[in-house]
Amino acid sequence: MAQEDVFKKIVAHCKEYGFVFPSSEIYDGLGAVYDYGQMGVEMKNNIKSYWWQSMVLLHDNIVGIDSSIFMHPTIWKASGHVDAFNDPLIDNRDSKKRYRADVLIEDQIAKYDEKIEKEVAKARKRFGDSFDEAKYRATSQNVLEHAAKRDALHERYKKAMNDGDLDALKQIIIDEEIVCPISGTRNWTDVRQFNLMFSTEMGSTSDASMKIYLRPETAQGIFVNYLNVQKTGRMKIPFGIAQIGKAFRNEIVARQFIFRMREFEQMEMQFFIKPGTELDWFAKWKATRMKWHQALGFGADHYRFHDHDKLAHYANAATDIEFLMPFGFKEVEGIHSRTNFDLSQHEKYSGKSIKYFDPETNESYTPYVIETSIGVDRMFLSVMCASYEEQVLENNESRIVLHLPAALAPVKLGILPLVKKDGLPELAHKIHDSLRFHFNCQYDEKDSIGKRYRRQDAIGTPYCITIDHQSLENGTVTLRNRDSMQQERVRIDDLLNIIADKVTITSILKTL
Ligand code: ATP
Repeated sequence: MAQEDVFKKIVAHCKEYGFVFPSSEIYDGLGAVYDYGQMGVEMKNNIKSYWWQSMVLLHDNIVGIDSSIFMHPTIWKASGHVDAFNDPLIDNRDSKKRYRADVLIEDQIAKYDEKIEKEVAKARKRFGDSFDEAKYRATSQNVLEHAAKRDALHERYKKAMNDGDLDALKQIIIDEEIVCPISGTRNWTDVRQFNLMFSTEMGSTSDASMKIYLRPETAQGIFVNYLNVQKTGRMKIPFGIAQIGKAFRNEIVARQFIFRMREFEQMEMQFFIKPGTELDWFAKWKATRMKWHQALGFGADHYRFHDHDKLAHYANAATDIEFLMPFGFKEVEGIHSRTNFDLSQHEKYSGKSIKYFDPETNESYTPYVIETSIGVDRMFLSVMCASYEEQVLENNESRIVLHLPAALAPVKLGILPLVKKDGLPELAHKIHDSLRFHFNCQYDEKDSIGKRYRRQDAIGTPYCITIDHQSLENGTVTLRNRDSMQQERVRIDDLLNIIADKVTITSILKTL
């Protein structure tokens, strides 16, 4: 099945099983805004707990905060967002569709890579076992031509972005003959800058009101509280502040479901360090964060680092952790070495010193910062995409199963009495009442047992127990594993030990 169709199915599945709904759906929705349903909110909370606990619980020197969405407007002036939080946009006059010029060009660069991979795949087929891939990549005329074109384009793009040269971006789109995917034409407008921040008015009278912004990132709430936390928490450098919260961006192109939303949630951690140590800490956080992702068990081949060509003016290193979505490798998390830019700017604009006095060296300095910034919703989407499978079973029946990491699954255990009589529901409720304190269980007595298993598979429930007549006699139930569909008979008294060990967030935290 084409990856595009797989993605459509995942989106439909998210709606059908109560994970994600389009916002305001009965009013035909609102562009790039989504609501999480009864299953989605559980999984989202699990993702947030996994992140929060890995930061705050596992590190003595990381603490959390929860700052407001509304902040003093000068903060956004100081941070550079008022002047420079822009994306280059371009319109196609025929389709009237709007695009990000940088994304159009990056997609074009990816096309050259796809061409190279196709050549390599063809040659692999042709030469069979004797295929020397490295040699082929280094010598094939076609591969070298595609690579040269890609590299030249890459260089041109990098320069145009670094110079903020909008005409040069448009010229690349023309020279590369990039067409609008909807109209198929090259009838483009000029490239313009577009600021992504939403604004509103605070105050009751129009003359006394103040223009304020909905925060486009949670990080600034950390920077402006840095000294409060450092002093009241008696924190010593190096230390980190973590925060989870909503962020808002008026994205130009908002497609691809919850990948790019106008209201979304971020999990950000700013790590304050001594100047000069930033590249070591940057490398450490890269490794720590990659390990966090890979601990979910989807396989290392689903991830890669993508180092930034265009560094923000304040950054001296930046990378993205990309995840293999059905529409290619895409950013889920950014890791940035932000120097002392943000803190210095807030010192300048607020007129207040936010220097750190280092008791070990007796010096005062403005700390440098390594930031790790991940979107909850993108993380959610990556987990969904990697977990979704339409499986044909041995008996030629099929099932849709979500192979969610057990710790992230919304429901951990399905509790299913075989029949609705003979005291089986009563025993099932009793088991439910004892386990509900430990993890999320779902009781279901409706329809055949097969149908009930399918419903649990579709929401990714890692375990189901069936209570049958034997359960009444000897206190055992069958425990079914979602992925293998194997069943084993276990004692009711052992259920908590068997299951809790595998489904709690602690179970993955211990592997980090
Ligand atoms: P992109 O290049 O995709 O616009 P970005 O580089 O602007 O992303 P950052 O500013 O580094 O993103 O934000 C950190 C993280 O926040 C991203 O890695 C992503 O997971 C998440 N994020 C950013 N914008 C959105 C959005 N519009 N919708 C959902 N998540 C987002």
